[in-house]
Amino acid sequence: MLEPTIGLEIHCELNTKSKMFSGSTNSYTTFANTNISEMDLALPGTLPRPNVEGIRKAIKLALALNCEIPNEVLFDRKNYYYPDLPKGYQITQMHDPVGVNGSIKIDCNGTTKKILIHDIHLEEDSASMDHFTDVSLINYNRAGVPLLELVTEPCIESPEEAVAFLEEMRRIYQYANISDADTKKGQIRCDVNVSIMDVDSKELGTKVEVKNVNSFGNVYETIKYEIERQSKLKDKGRYDEVVQETRRWDEESGTTKRMRTKADAIDYKYFVEPNIPKYKIDQNWVEEIKKCI
Ligand code: ADP
Ligand code: MG
Repeated sequence: MLEPTIGLEIHCELNTKSKMFSGSTNSYTTFANTNISEMDLALPGTLPRPNVEGIRKAIKLALALNCEIPNEVLFDRKNYYYPDLPKGYQITQMHDPVGVNGSIKIDCNGTTKKILIHDIHLEEDSASMDHFTDVSLINYNRAGVPLLELVTEPCIESPEEAVAFLEEMRRIYQYANISDADTKKGQIRCDVNVSIMDVDSKELGTKVEVKNVNSFGNVYETIKYEIERQSKLKDKGRYDEVVQETRRWDEESGTTKRMRTKADAIDYKYFVEPNIPKYKIDQNWVEEIKKCI
């Protein structure tokens, strides 16, 4: 008997007035390159200035999900090159995320299930790109938009549970006024990790990560498809073909497709962001935030 294991990484755009490290407007618009500043384009001499409202909303979510909150806010640099990332690095939190070890109970098909939260961390979004046959266009409106990433433990057991959790999270984001959480505007995006193992095994199977799944329906289909694909390989004695890799959901064919083998954390050469000093979290402030949930 095989058993699936699922872990989710949910990226959610915060509904602050301005971006995470610049004063540009943070609002959804269909007009390309209108919500931008020198900082978002990484022009020489620009420096990040953290948005306290972004930090506040991040702490609010950490509280709502019963996380432990650190004494200080600290940011890290994740280094990689891509045209949608003009600085050549993303400011994120790796060493000391804004919330750890949380949990939340959800209802799924009449039973209560506790979902364990590994961590919540605050970061900035990249620009977005449109690819055409002979050109690609970059839209910097999204560059620097505050993004809150929530990472669950591998504790979800079915596509139904995953969707029930996502729906509960959407209610929380909206109720606590953390995000408008509109999947049609890309305000919630999800990386889906799936593995299978024998029921009596003590170790989890090799996981496959499906990146940037953009609707709850597609999360459901992705999980269903991956469980089937991996189970078939296992049945045929070709289980070693489940390699740790990054795939994407292909809506047209209703399948997942291989993108690349997974990069390890060490490849990103993380280090503490030197341009942002540590920011002490006052306990009175935390209490105040708690009161307005
Ligand atoms: P990585 O270092 O590859 O990013 P993490 O341990 O940070 O992996 O986990 C990333 C996500 O994958 C988390 O949501 C976690 O719950 C999930 N995950 C980890 N191991 C497994 C597994 N064996 N099966 C399914 N999901 C997993
Ligand atoms: Mg990870």
